[in-house]
Amino acid sequence: MQVVPTQNRFIERVMEEEDRRYGSFDKPFYRIEDDMVFLQFLSGGCPWKIDTGGCTICTFEQRCYTDEPDYIEQFEYVINQAKEKTDLNNIDNLLLFNRSFYSDSEISPKERKELLSKVSEFDVSEISVESRPEVITSEKLRNTKEALGGKDVSVYIGVESTNDFVRKYCIHKGLKSEEIEDATNLINDEGMKFVPFILTKPPFMSEKTAIKDATESIEDVINLGADRISLQAMHVYDDSLAYDMSQEGLYRSPWLWSLNKILENLGSLTDKIEGVYGLNPDILTLTPEEIAHNCGECDGEVKEQVKSLEPQLETSCECIEDWKKALEESKGPLEKVLHDYRELSRLKGVELKEEEVDQIKEDFEVMY
Ligand code: SF4
Ligand SMILES: [Zn+2]
Repeated sequence: MQVVPTQNRFIERVMEEEDRRYGSFDKPFYRIEDDMVFLQFLSGGCPWKIDTGGCTICTFEQRCYTDEPDYIEQFEYVINQAKEKTDLNNIDNLLLFNRSFYSDSEISPKERKELLSKVSEFDVSEISVESRPEVITSEKLRNTKEALGGKDVSVYIGVESTNDFVRKYCIHKGLKSEEIEDATNLINDEGMKFVPFILTKPPFMSEKTAIKDATESIEDVINLGADRISLQAMHVYDDSLAYDMSQEGLYRSPWLWSLNKILENLGSLTDKIEGVYGLNPDILTLTPEEIAHNCGECDGEVKEQVKSLEPQLETSCECIEDWKKALEESKGPLEKVLHDYRELSRLKGVELKEEEVDQIKEDFEVMY
């Protein structure tokens, strides 16, 4: 297997120029969706974000950051609130999301153990955590299983795309394929469930490429051993690089038709989709343009089709013709990255060096 470099200095320099705001959330929060309860902790920050500026899609560092995270205190605060809304002993899945559960710099092994021991007191059949893959070890997974005493455990990983070029140039994810594969093997070897997040339409990607990329990525992670997939419809947080690009007309969140098309392409593989998320502004104050959308008239109806995983591309709404036109006019994946990087360079006043352009072209040949 080829090991690809993940360094993307152009995006790192763009991120350095950003004047990010802090603190949209100053407390941990929870969200209930079907039989799942998400607990979102404030963390000391994702190391990838701290070291490199992080992913082009990300805002979490700013929204959910605290210098001194006390996870036990946060857990007690947020679980007591969730308990008032639902019987936690009757839910299917309790998800503990910080940023990267197995990054020791985010949560120490001692705190991780204490937190898991608190969680084990609840009679929930499945507990889930999310982590970057490169910090996952067998020992950490075994400790989790032990602390949870026989409950099912799922590990969510932000794979986003299985295409190396897309992760490096569109998302700036900083992940190598081999790190994803190694983590998947460790998770499956320990009898735990691997649940990748797959993202539809990151920045620097056309509508047509987005459909292809999400479809292929889902097929790939199923082959890799995913138990199920969390399909994310890209939404534009107001302090992400994607936001700056959408403000400048360089990014449009995906058409709902594209999500329908992805589901149609997958056919019976949609059984593996846990859900399509990011379609509701819910606790985040997103505008309709910042989440997946159509013309506005048919959005409610088509969103329901997407959510129920029952796509229909037969419709009376005329906007489907606009979507088809957007597909026809889509730039190719290399052309789109080069075009948008040049625009971004101009907008941010950050030089895109000729050798970086050559590197992008070279990487495209190898990775795409
Ligand atoms: S998306 Fe995840 S990995 Fe990327 S910067 Fe944000 S928290 Fe870190
Ligand atoms: Zn419409």
